[in-house]
Amino acid sequence: MYKGALLQKCSQSKCETPRDNGIVPHDTPTPDDAARCPCLSGNSYGDCCAPIHRGAGLAPTAERLMRSRFSAFALGLPEYLLDSWHPSTRPEELELDPHLRWQLLDILRTERGGPFDRTGIVEFRATFRDGTGTVTGTGGSTRGELHETSSFVREGQRWYYVDGVTD
Ligand SMILES: [Zn+2]
Repeated sequence: MYKGALLQKCSQSKCETPRDNGIVPHDTPTPDDAARCPCLSGNSYGDCCAPIHRGAGLAPTAERLMRSRFSAFALGLPEYLLDSWHPSTRPEELELDPHLRWQLLDILRTERGGPFDRTGIVEFRATFRDGTGTVTGTGGSTRGELHETSSFVREGQRWYYVDGVTD
């Protein structure tokens, strides 16, 4: 369903931008379980974020939820992103920019966010490549960085993303 929506979107004007660098993130196939997880944990996708994305497991900590959300951005899984967003701050819908390719995640700091905490903070830096330069405002393929301090809350066994402060 989701892929169909993206394809639909990409038949429209936005995707007529020349693909000068060959980076076409939305055509990237979802990695199989043996591939390295996009969150760069060092584990395979099947042993890391895949079960969380598929609802077969829960992120035990705020940091794990953060990592699974980064992977979901990298893989283009808006449904999971909405699902892991706290209902109080969750947007109605989420449209991922198909020209952004999320590449690196550095967890800089965590506060609380453990299995017995109710809230958690994760500060991270994420690196992306902007295939069109529209996001970074450069007009060409370039690299950008997102530095965010995110808040998480636990309800029952589940961690949720609440919101984030970027700079
Ligand atoms: Zn992972």
